[in-house]
Amino acid sequence: MSSIPEVKIGLEIHVQLTSLKTKLFCPTPSNYRGEEPNTYVCPVCLGLPGTLPVVNKKAIEYAIALALALNCEINDKLVFVRKHYFYPDLPKNYQISQYDGPGFSSIARNGYVKIFVDGKSKIVRIRRINIEEDPGKIHYIGSIETSPYSLVDYNRSGIALLEIVTEPDIESPKEARAFLDKLIAILEYLGITDTSREGAFRVDANISVAGGSRVEIKNIGSIKEVEKALTYEIIRQKNIVGKGGEVKRETRHWDSSKGVTVPLRSKEFEEDYRYFPDPDLPPMIITKTFIESVAKSLPELPDSRIERFIKQYELDEYRATVLVLIKWLADFFEECAKLYNNYKKLADLLITDFLRWVKEFNLSPRELKVQSIHIVKLLQYLDKGVISIKMLKESLPRIVKEGIDIDKLVAEGYTKLDDEIVIEKIVREVMAENPKAVKDALENPKAVNYLVGMVMKKTRGRADPNKTVEIIKRLLDEIRKKS
Ligand code: MN
Repeated sequence: MSSIPEVKIGLEIHVQLTSLKTKLFCPTPSNYRGEEPNTYVCPVCLGLPGTLPVVNKKAIEYAIALALALNCEINDKLVFVRKHYFYPDLPKNYQISQYDGPGFSSIARNGYVKIFVDGKSKIVRIRRINIEEDPGKIHYIGSIETSPYSLVDYNRSGIALLEIVTEPDIESPKEARAFLDKLIAILEYLGITDTSREGAFRVDANISVAGGSRVEIKNIGSIKEVEKALTYEIIRQKNIVGKGGEVKRETRHWDSSKGVTVPLRSKEFEEDYRYFPDPDLPPMIITKTFIESVAKSLPELPDSRIERFIKQYELDEYRATVLVLIKWLADFFEECAKLYNNYKKLADLLITDFLRWVKEFNLSPRELKVQSIHIVKLLQYLDKGVISIKMLKESLPRIVKEGIDIDKLVAEGYTKLDDEIVIEKIVREVMAENPKAVKDALENPKAVNYLVGMVMKKTRGRADPNKTVEIIKRLLDEIRKKS
């Protein structure tokens, strides 16, 4: 019997529909970021008495687009409910949301997302998608636990959110990451949100080990933090179970600066919210025609693009997935692929060194100066033997950062050194400078590598390795004959 505790993770993601011009139930503009607190507000999103919400139709369209992309069943009736709780960021004392229960329904249910982890595909089921409004934002002084007072800003109040809830099908922090990467890619392809904006993508994670109580970690801000918080929480819960204790059902907060989760409050239950249908928003019928028109307007989505990459470019699922989930990189790949047909080699360069330098220089895809032709030429020169792989790797950072043409580097003398007379001259220098290494190489053939390394160092990797080895062996033979 295996004694490894089983890990179950379910995610609840809140996504702001940042592509909408206005809030969910009022005409207040939604581009509040960077503005003075409490200036992007109106009587509706401030929850003043006597105001009435009017639903933003575009938000419904976006929700349906996401529901289709996540393979969900879409409800034909759109029902909004009031979720009651008292909190300073919620001026009405209820949040307009949706509820998946008797007499109510979420806009969409029963979907799935395919993820690819460690060479295997896996399905993560989607339980539901709700449309709801964002609350305001509470500002703490310092940390949430020690803040002497808090301030509230209602600019965010009433911004349209989609709440996406998965089934607890995720079994590791790595799978959680793969799921979130995929979800973010789908949202980006749909163009309904820019998840890179502060607070536009927030994750709550439910986690339990060995069938114990579920602990919810609230409001984690990035995928990297989700992975860290889950890793920490798994260890914490396993330690409790290991000592014969019981994990408490509660809500915890991820303190990213300390790298720990801390208790926030004991978990409230669904029935505490006193859901009831919002009388201000009577049920709306979503027609088949409307759903079909949204379906027709959908762009190519990650799953079909991955499939196309596998067929059209003969890539394996791993390479196709890595490329497609980074949309701009997949676009760049396709641009290069028009001019260069060793697709596997091209994909490898892009998903390894190329991507690493883009991240290293912190370049946003929009400010990239490098063009497809630069990368294509680089690979062509490598194929023709004009440059070595080492030189390709060395010149790549400049090409990525400055968008410089490899022809310019070659003209500056940046080519492979394969002139035997020149190499021999350098080999002789190296041997003269390293008498002990020469002695070792005479006795042990493996020690030749050290001399090759010294030649490479002197030529900054430009010497042709095969010719260098040949020349060293010939010169060593000459020494043997003499002695
Ligand atoms: Mn919610």
